[in-house]
Amino acid sequence: MTQIPRTNLLDLDGERLATFIAGLNEKPFRSKQLMRWVHQRGVSDVHLMSDLAKSFREQLDGSVEIKSLPVISDQTASDGTRKWLLDVGDGNAVEMVYIPEDERGTLCISTQAGCAVNCQFCSTGKQGFARNLTVGEIIGQLWYAEHHLRNDPSAVKRIDTYDKTQLAHGEGRVISNVVMMGMGEPLLNYEPVIGAMSLMLDDNAYGLSRRRVTLSTSGVVPFIDKLAKDMPVALAVSLHAPNNKLRDILVPINRKYPLAVLLDSCKRYLEFAPRDFLTFEYCMLDGVNDSDKHAHELIQLLKSIKCKINLIPFNPFADSGLKQSPKSRIDQFAKILLDAKMTSEEH
Ligand code: SF4
Repeated sequence: MTQIPRTNLLDLDGERLATFIAGLNEKPFRSKQLMRWVHQRGVSDVHLMSDLAKSFREQLDGSVEIKSLPVISDQTASDGTRKWLLDVGDGNAVEMVYIPEDERGTLCISTQAGCAVNCQFCSTGKQGFARNLTVGEIIGQLWYAEHHLRNDPSAVKRIDTYDKTQLAHGEGRVISNVVMMGMGEPLLNYEPVIGAMSLMLDDNAYGLSRRRVTLSTSGVVPFIDKLAKDMPVALAVSLHAPNNKLRDILVPINRKYPLAVLLDSCKRYLEFAPRDFLTFEYCMLDGVNDSDKHAHELIQLLKSIKCKINLIPFNPFADSGLKQSPKSRIDQFAKILLDAKMTSEEH
């Protein structure tokens, strides 16, 4: 007997869930109820959704599922940072990382399996592109991590920033910030990323404010402009070089959207951004982009944009041919930026 495929409720953003519910001849408010059960309370058994009519629960039982990506491994470091490897099939995996801090809990998620952008300092880029993740696979990372950590007594921190009246458990949430900085270029998987972000922002789901959701891009300019209109969350730009000659090599998408074009789109984005600055990521590569000259070039390049620069130590991997800048070099680079009154952070 052929089985009818079930609809994964994690794949449905607010609009699609409403259409799905209408298709079942149920009242529109049911979609909000269902969204709260799934995303706010993390319930995956429809029979536990006690304020839904029994007949509706039975109908759902036969047609839906609530399933995130299977976990391959789950590791916790001594500082509480937790890393999960998730199975996306065909021998591919993506990573998700939870970083607990005093005032916030940040989840870093992936949007694609592999990546086609091929940045020189990135091990994901070296693997090549496998496939785009779906809405359910993207939001499922937040769904799994939030509810898993919330119910885990060993979870390091409970962040109590959520409006408690919105949580049936009366508990604070664990994840206060989401960053799309894991595997993949989010803007090259635009529609599913927008669908997943709409759930992050939806008060019936995770209710995060736009400033607590950060999308990191290598600089896909047409989609930066589109994002500004569709869903202007906080934006981080992977810059990594202060001139086109070097960026063409380190971040090859620069050949298509060179720095002047990219920075113009960043300025346009600032008009819509939830904060009055953008973040630029700069991976410090020994002898490649970390000299005093590079720091001065960076100041000239970014002087007309309100921004913060994150200096990230390179994470070495086999065959990259690159080395991490020494700490003293990163400090000196940061000092030059600071002397020019540019805000930077060392990670
Ligand atoms: Fe890696 Fe991001 Fe560049 Fe893709 S866009 S290769 S994930 S740094």
